[in-house]
Amino acid sequence: MAIFSEMANLEHEQLVFCRNDDVGLRAIIAIHSTALGPALGGCRLYNYANEDDAVRDVLRLSRGMTYKAAVAGLDFGGGKAVIIGDPSIKSEPLFRAFGRFVESLRGRYITAEDMNTTVEDMNHIRRETNHVNGASLHAGGSGDPSPVTAWGVFHGIRACLEVVHGSPDVSGRTVAIQGLGAVGFELARYLHEAGAQLLFNDISDRKLTRAIETFGGTVVDGDDYYSSECDVLAPCAIGGIINAATIPRIRAPIIAGAANNQLDDEARDGEQLEAAGIVYAPDYVISAGGLINVAAERSGASAEAAMSDAAGIFDTVKQIINLSRAGRITTTAASNQVAEQRIDAVSRLRRFHLP
Ligand code: NAD
Repeated sequence: MAIFSEMANLEHEQLVFCRNDDVGLRAIIAIHSTALGPALGGCRLYNYANEDDAVRDVLRLSRGMTYKAAVAGLDFGGGKAVIIGDPSIKSEPLFRAFGRFVESLRGRYITAEDMNTTVEDMNHIRRETNHVNGASLHAGGSGDPSPVTAWGVFHGIRACLEVVHGSPDVSGRTVAIQGLGAVGFELARYLHEAGAQLLFNDISDRKLTRAIETFGGTVVDGDDYYSSECDVLAPCAIGGIINAATIPRIRAPIIAGAANNQLDDEARDGEQLEAAGIVYAPDYVISAGGLINVAAERSGASAEAAMSDAAGIFDTVKQIINLSRAGRITTTAASNQVAEQRIDAVSRLRRFHLP
């Protein structure tokens, strides 16, 4: 792989390779942009088929974080880390060794939880560096960000309903949630408390049973999820599920959920949704609550302040849908524009030298 060309393609600042054979650590930290502030982004543990896949993933994910933070109005840039291996390699020394590499970047990169890493892992990292978020409350962190993510998604759904129906009220509306994990289950709670009817889809019978026992609602099996009769599809499980095969089946006028990379092909599928008259809340905009929580932790703000900031996703989602309609572009193109304009404007004002 021509690594500098890959970095140049997506305009990355820095790529750091970290190795410690004593603890079995092979990690890559990507800093996409620090134009708005320190690069923030989680640490993913994944058994990549090869090193090129790991490099591509960390480059793609870190760029996504730049856009996510920019649209959320945060003073953070975008970064991400990947540790190569399966979850069996986890150990205190592994995460502490990783933490020392994070520390060596002196705050240019701040890590957090991501796929296959947990609050406990962040606690280990925190023993070696303060540039970590999402450690447990007793270790001085803000804990699991998922309830804040879910709160942001709830408000993003309300914004979509307001654009489509003139009222943000979820009461009496039907929302089909795919994935009843950390985010989906909390989202179900907020929607249930606000009077929504719920449809549930998950590959885990245990998760489905827990949701039905807690909130009532109805299970939709497998692929029938996409053709659910409902007001909102809220994908909160995996990516790539909005694609050429599923879009023709979708009856819901709104797609608004937390799952990362919902569109299989951002441009093609975004345009197909537009053509079908389906409002799509860009995933990285509506799922920013977790990041907002992390930003609140760093600024010393309270958990209540983080929830209140995450509720601001209502305005952001509305603004982006309106921009997309005015400019006849997809909602993702509209949110990318908002991000790029903000990064550009802040970078320009920082040309002014402060003695
Ligand atoms: P999780 O692992 O806790 O839950 C995922 C759920 O999806 C599980 O219940 C799992 O059984 C289910 N699932 C997996 N594959 C499925 C499939 N093919 N069909 C139906 N259900 C399936 O994950 P989470 O933390 O709740 O995150 C959910 C999504 O939101 C992910 O895409 C994640 O990247 C994204 N996200 C999460 C956060 C956060 O704060 N946790 C923030 C931003 C984005």
